[in-house]
Amino acid sequence: MKITLGDHSRVFGRKISDMIGQNIDGCYQCGKCTAGCPIAYAMEVPPHEVIRLVQLGREEEAMGSHTIWLCASCETCTSRCPKNIDVAAAMDALRVLAFRQGQTGVEKEITLFHKLFLKVIERFGRVNDLQLMGRYNLLTLNPLKDWRLGLKLLAKGKLKLTTPPVKGLQEFQEIIKRVLTKRGEGA
Ligand code: SF4
Ligand code: SF4
Repeated sequence: MKITLGDHSRVFGRKISDMIGQNIDGCYQCGKCTAGCPIAYAMEVPPHEVIRLVQLGREEEAMGSHTIWLCASCETCTSRCPKNIDVAAAMDALRVLAFRQGQTGVEKEITLFHKLFLKVIERFGRVNDLQLMGRYNLLTLNPLKDWRLGLKLLAKGKLKLTTPPVKGLQEFQEIIKRVLTKRGEGA
């Protein structure tokens, strides 16, 4: 039976294709991406099926899946794809769209982590593990989570109490502010 894709599927598929710079229709569902994905065991919708949802224009299901948040961006799927589809970039594009549309409720703690990560980068110009984990633990109402591990890392000098100054931090913060303002996400 010939499957005819409707206008909606074309619009959504094209949007993701534009974001990743290649035509996602090239995927022929061989499943090699899923076979190599180290997180697939925890995904209710495996990576190749997410790609299929995009092809079919099933936007809500693609962006509402846990898969896009569980994806660790390791790019194994991308390197295995015989059609050179950048599956990892597609996952990224879906996350970006879900963020923009406020569809982040499905994995609240993961999306909180993403937001805090960006806030810490914006504040310090680099990752500050102590700040990041401290804020994350407080906002998830679990302030003492992993405190033993934290102490061990501090003792070994793997966790720093202070962050060395970053050259050009002010300019970097200005760039972030401009991008967020342009997207209508500024403070
Ligand atoms: S490996 Fe490539 S062609 Fe095969 S299912 Fe995954 S994205 Fe599609
Ligand atoms: S990038 Fe994401 S979807 Fe691809 S193999 Fe890694 S975890 Fe799986």
